[in-house]
Amino acid sequence: MPTSHAPSVDRSGLRLMHVHAHPDDESSKGAASTARYVAEGADVQVVTCTGGERGSILNPKMDRPEILENITEVRRQEMERARDILGVTQEWLGFVDSGWPDGDPKPPLPEGCFGLVPLEEATERLVRLVRAFRPHVMTTYDERGGYPHPDHIRCHEVSVAAFEAAGDPDRFPDAGEPWQPQKLYYHHSFNRPRMQALHDAMVEHGLESPWEERLKEWKPEPEWDARITTRVPCAEYFGVRDQALLAHATQIDPDGFWFAVPRELQAEVWPTEDYELVTSHVESVVPEDDLFAGVTPDA
Ligand SMILES: [Zn+2]
Repeated sequence: MPTSHAPSVDRSGLRLMHVHAHPDDESSKGAASTARYVAEGADVQVVTCTGGERGSILNPKMDRPEILENITEVRRQEMERARDILGVTQEWLGFVDSGWPDGDPKPPLPEGCFGLVPLEEATERLVRLVRAFRPHVMTTYDERGGYPHPDHIRCHEVSVAAFEAAGDPDRFPDAGEPWQPQKLYYHHSFNRPRMQALHDAMVEHGLESPWEERLKEWKPEPEWDARITTRVPCAEYFGVRDQALLAHATQIDPDGFWFAVPRELQAEVWPTEDYELVTSHVESVVPEDDLFAGVTPDA
C-alpha cells in the first residue's frame, strides 16, 4: 500500500465504525477515506451484517463451480484480505444474506435471512459491538440503502437504531456499558454529479466512459445531492481502495467499470468521498471536510 506522504494529522485515540451489509461494501463505499483515517492513526472497525452468501459471482474469471460451492468461505477469505489491506478491524454481525429479489412482482425473502430478522434482535447485536468498540463516529447507508437491496435497507435501519440505543442505559442493559457515538453519517459517494463529472472528463480525454447508459437512466436529483454535508479529501488513498476492491475477487471484475476511469483523472476531477451528517451530538459547522470535525476524544 504505497502512501507517499506522512500523515499531517494525528488521529490516535479516535474511533470510526462503518456498518455495512455485505463483504465488499466496505471497499466500494468510503474505502479511501477509511484508509486515510487509518494512516492518520485512527482505529476503524467495519461491521459486516451478513456473510454475502447469496451474492452472485460478478467476475467472469471467478465464475467456477468450486468457487460457487464454497462461496461462504471464499467471501470470508476475501473479506480478511480487504480488512488487512485497509488496516481495519472487522466484526461479523452474523446474519444471512437476503439475496437480491429478482422478478416482478418480487419473490418473498428467503426464510431466516437478515431482511426478516426482527429489528430488535439485530439492533441488540450491533449495540453490543458499539459498546465494545466505542466509536466516536458511525457511518451507514441512507434510508434508500444506497441501492434498494433488502440487506442495505435493513443495515440502515439497524445502524440508526443502534446509534440511538447504544448510549441509553435502559436499552439492552445486558449488552455492555452504554456508549453514545458523537456523530452519524450516511454514505453519498455514488452521487450523480460525481458520475457526470467523471463521465465528462473521460469524454473530454477521448476515453470511453462507463457511465453513458447509467446517466441517461438516472434523473438528476438536486435535492438529494444537496444532502451531502461532508467531503473528505482522500485521493491519495484511491490506490489502497482499489486494492481492497480487488480482494473481493468474486464480486469485482478487474476489467469492469470500477477501474475504467484512470486514477489520476479521478483524483483531479473528484478527489473526495462524500457523506451526509445526519445526527451530531457535538458542534460542527457544515459543510465539513472531516468526519471527526468537532469530535472530542475520550477524556
Ligand atoms: Zn451490499
